[in-house]
Amino acid sequence: MPESLAATGARWLHRRLVYPAVVRARGEGGVFEKQRELETAQWLEAPALRARQAARLERLLALAAGSSPWHRERWGRRVALAGRDPFEVLRELPLVTKAELQDSIADMLVQPQPRRTLRKVTGGSTGQPVAIVKDSAAVAAEMAASWVAYGWFGVRRGDRGVRFWGQPATLKRRLRFAAADFAMHRIRFSAFAFGEEDLERYWRRCLDFRPDFFYGYASMLAAFADFVLQRGYDGRALGLKAIVSTSEVLTEPHRRAMVSAFGAPVQNEYGCGELGPIAYECPAGGLHLLPESHVVEVLRPDGTPAARGESGEVVVTDLNNVALPMIRYRVGDLAVPGGACSCGRGFPLLERVWGRAYDFVLGPDGRRYHGEFFMYLFEDQRSAGSPIAKFQVVQHAPDRVVFRVVESAAFDQGHEERLLAAGRARLPGVDIRVERVSELPPAPSGKSIVVQNLWLRSDAADGAEATTEPAGSAA
Ligand SMILES: [Zn+2]
Repeated sequence: MPESLAATGARWLHRRLVYPAVVRARGEGGVFEKQRELETAQWLEAPALRARQAARLERLLALAAGSSPWHRERWGRRVALAGRDPFEVLRELPLVTKAELQDSIADMLVQPQPRRTLRKVTGGSTGQPVAIVKDSAAVAAEMAASWVAYGWFGVRRGDRGVRFWGQPATLKRRLRFAAADFAMHRIRFSAFAFGEEDLERYWRRCLDFRPDFFYGYASMLAAFADFVLQRGYDGRALGLKAIVSTSEVLTEPHRRAMVSAFGAPVQNEYGCGELGPIAYECPAGGLHLLPESHVVEVLRPDGTPAARGESGEVVVTDLNNVALPMIRYRVGDLAVPGGACSCGRGFPLLERVWGRAYDFVLGPDGRRYHGEFFMYLFEDQRSAGSPIAKFQVVQHAPDRVVFRVVESAAFDQGHEERLLAAGRARLPGVDIRVERVSELPPAPSGKSIVVQNLWLRSDAADGAEATTEPAGSAA
């Protein structure tokens, strides 16, 4: 479909005028220079990247040790930087939990604070929001990293986006989001309105708006893709460059649905609200970390680094934020470190991310069953003709799990028995029941929850709860 001159002009105006004016007004004009820097840095080889990272890490550690009362007190004499490898120093420092961040943020802030900062509240499935502070240059660096990564799929600044996202509750925040949406040339579809009528409305809006890319929760994007496929609409006619899936584990069935509905590649974005984006998928399928933004460690339970191919806990140090040092922050996810990517970029890889540390069922034999495991289990049932729309898995005790299934007339006793049989076969030693519910409320952020582990959460004494606020640039 030929592009109208007006649409091309609108993109140009946004890229050249609106976006630069807005980011400069917010003190985030560094995004342009940073983006140019990253365009080059991504092709550097590992030793060069490591040297740049070391220099930035050293500055951050010195800043935290000198100007953050909380870090100074906690570290004591541990941080003697002179002449030492900063990575080695880092490995000796204690980990920081979300609970510590919540309780001590006022003392963690660097004194004096940078001139321009942004306060951002990130949600939590536990209903315990954390307010974090970022300096404007850090926000700019975060956006620059996102634009570089979207660029791997041809998405550029000024391109039109559709955001499948939560809607803020207060008018003040709604207005702020609306302003950000305007600046970013995008529209927003609410995570809280996802009935058939809403989806139909969103489809019509897409035909009208002609977006270049989608961005949002994996589950919402997949629901929209399913809808488009079911109605027989031509999603390819939108001509999307990419679909950026974030914030939830992206499963293969979800990816397939999006590709077949819209004919566009899906880019997986991994991040968290406190830190922003942590890794992006490239067209060759590698999930690249951003070594110019973070030091990411994947640790075994004893604190030593996990080997390549081995699962461990994700611990992140943010190299950008000089308002609030985030050093060895426990994100609450599990991941597997990877090797090099065939695309040639030097940014290191995660082989995979296992999602939130507590978002899994722990079997009596110690085996872990992640959200993805259940997505496949239910997907198999659907493929065999079982009319299951939405589901959730809740673990109440080591040997007690409930499958919550949204009530529908078509889901009969036979379907339930087959689902139970499949569950019992795959989760040995676990007592499984099916509970029919009228709906599944999403987390406060609007994100859907595949696995809820009430048993492990009640046990979680260190407060490293799962975070639900997604990553992402600018509001
Ligand atoms: Zn790659």
